[in-house]
Amino acid sequence: LDWDVVIVGSGPAGCSTALNLAKRAPALARRTLILERDQHPRHKLCGGGLVRDADVLLANLGLDLREVPHVDASWAHFHFRGHGARIKLSDIAFHIVRRAELDAWLAMHVRRRGVTIQEQTRVERLSSVEGGVEIQTDRGPVRARAVVGADGSKSIVRRSVCPDSRGNVARLLELLTPDAPIALPRDEAFFEFSCRDRGVQGYFWSFPTRVEGRPMRSWGVYDSRILSGAPHAALKSVCRDALEERGLRLGDHHFEAHPLRWFDAEQPMSIPHVILAGDALGADAVLGEGISIALGYGAIAADALADAFERSDLSFSTYRDRVLKSRLGRALVRRTRGARLLYGIEGGLRRRLFWWCVGPAMQGYVKRYVFNWATSDRA
Ligand SMILES: Cc1cc2nc3c(=O)[nH]c(=O)nc-3n(C[C@H](O)[C@H](O)[C@H](O)COP(=O)(O)OP(=O)(O)OC[C@H]3O[C@@H](n4cnc5c(N)ncnc54)[C@H](O)[C@@H]3O)c2cc1C
Repeated sequence: LDWDVVIVGSGPAGCSTALNLAKRAPALARRTLILERDQHPRHKLCGGGLVRDADVLLANLGLDLREVPHVDASWAHFHFRGHGARIKLSDIAFHIVRRAELDAWLAMHVRRRGVTIQEQTRVERLSSVEGGVEIQTDRGPVRARAVVGADGSKSIVRRSVCPDSRGNVARLLELLTPDAPIALPRDEAFFEFSCRDRGVQGYFWSFPTRVEGRPMRSWGVYDSRILSGAPHAALKSVCRDALEERGLRLGDHHFEAHPLRWFDAEQPMSIPHVILAGDALGADAVLGEGISIALGYGAIAADALADAFERSDLSFSTYRDRVLKSRLGRALVRRTRGARLLYGIEGGLRRRLFWWCVGPAMQGYVKRYVFNWATSDRA
């Protein structure tokens, strides 16, 4: 076969798998190829919010996020009609990067550590061959003994692992505006959950950001769609109204929409010779946070690959257990359950009461049970 490992996608999940492989099994990393549809730096629709777990995981790889242009949100406000809490995870709430810059930086480090990335190559389908997988691309076939599907929420690789998986997909809408006044200090972020009353199983957000050195704001709506059978909310009109309340017009700005797959513990996660990572397997259902999670999946996937090649057993029959028993897997299970509970509260009054009661305890809860699952290798 051409390669021992082919990773499909060079976003945070694919790059993290490669970087962790270079750390854990350098010889295997040199026999690893990443196939990427686009070319870095490439556009990726994303708010770019990076929580402390990402700092920890990057530090474990010897990488320092300070090399990537970013701004910091000093506080994050989680609110429902004036009730809720403001939260910090360390001395700040979270960093905000532009994904084109973060992902190009990750890909540069992947190459420096000896993993080959072939850009402008779209994977079209996978088929089984003796001892591995044949990957059909728009530039011809590639054969590998193991494949990692790190190709995002619309993953092609996922179709081989679970051909009839449907649902579990959130919708997001996002736009950027020049820095605009908000009712908070400019370096703060907010997550406003009152759009739940209009059917959104999520929130409206605003973060500070910086594009080519210019201060901007990122705005958007996240709708988890986690409650099966509930009617879909009109995201565009929710977003338009939330912007108008703040003196902005949706029509004056370019907006984009994208799906996001969230984590479901019941789903298949691998088949012989193929494993999934990142959004292809599922991100956080409560907030749609997926960058630190994709970085975390990379460490799990690399361990699974290294063990599989050491034991010459590429069945990946224990991959699901490995994911579910990891600190990341346990956090994701809690978050999917949490999203069902949070967005399942019926009635405006009950929601208000919930936010009024839990608001004061929220900082402690999210620091302990939602974030901070990543552990430092130095600890
Ligand atoms: C609007 C929006 C806002 C978001 N905001 C945040 C946020 O603020 N913070 C946060 O943590 N998360 C956020 N997320 C989620 C975050 O973007 C994802 O969880 C994260 O990008 C997952 O990384 P990944 O590597 O799994 O997938 P991706 O980043 O999607 O990378 C997949 C890679 O695979 C490549 N690829 C896809 N198909 C193929 C193919 N067929 N062949 C070859 N290559 C292929 C793509 O080009 C891409 O480079 C947001 C998502 C959206 C949609």
